[in-house]
Amino acid sequence: MARYTEASCRQCRREGMKLYLKGERCYSKDKCAFDKRPTPPGAAGKRRAKLSEYGMQLREKQKVKRIYGVLEKQFRHYFDVAEKQQGITGDNLLFLLEERLDNVVYRLGLATSRKEARQLVLHGHFTVNGKRVNVPSYEIKVGDEIAVADGSKKSTKFKDIIEATENRAIVQWLTVDFDKLAGKVVGKPTREDIDIEIAEHLIVELYSK
Ligand code: SF4
Repeated sequence: MARYTEASCRQCRREGMKLYLKGERCYSKDKCAFDKRPTPPGAAGKRRAKLSEYGMQLREKQKVKRIYGVLEKQFRHYFDVAEKQQGITGDNLLFLLEERLDNVVYRLGLATSRKEARQLVLHGHFTVNGKRVNVPSYEIKVGDEIAVADGSKKSTKFKDIIEATENRAIVQWLTVDFDKLAGKVVGKPTREDIDIEIAEHLIVELYSK
């Protein structure tokens, strides 16, 4: 599967903000490359260029794609679905991204980053309602139960992950039981649950041209 290949920390520096792409390193001021050097990557990149309106819209779209690890075609698909749904298109777009299985695994604290969550899902370490699901984009619904698959529960990997994530706040639409390595979807995400600065209206403007 095609994925972004630019090093994660460079992506943060390019976007001018922390995108939280590398797990626990992102939460340490001493280890986070953006905290240490928030300038754009590249020899000439000491100052951030002023962007046109189109440039800002494009950057915002790139930023959100990078946060959720989604490529253009799928991102555009989410936008088309969001546009057809009731409510605010920008909110709908973010909710569709939040409801991806890989994001939910990350939000539950069963992976340290969305990237790790995607790998773990791809390798068949998770079940949804008791059935193994290895599709990171799988859309979860209210009432779904997500769990580490029985065969993976003894892996020290999950012990390490939980040690790193157990003190993170869990969003209000999910509950987690670390002893059982399982969580449940108890509601729908709200705009307030999305903790990274995103100006989704710029993406709507871009696609509406
Ligand atoms: Fe971005 Fe910092 Fe995480 Fe690197 S460590 S991916 S710069 S937030």
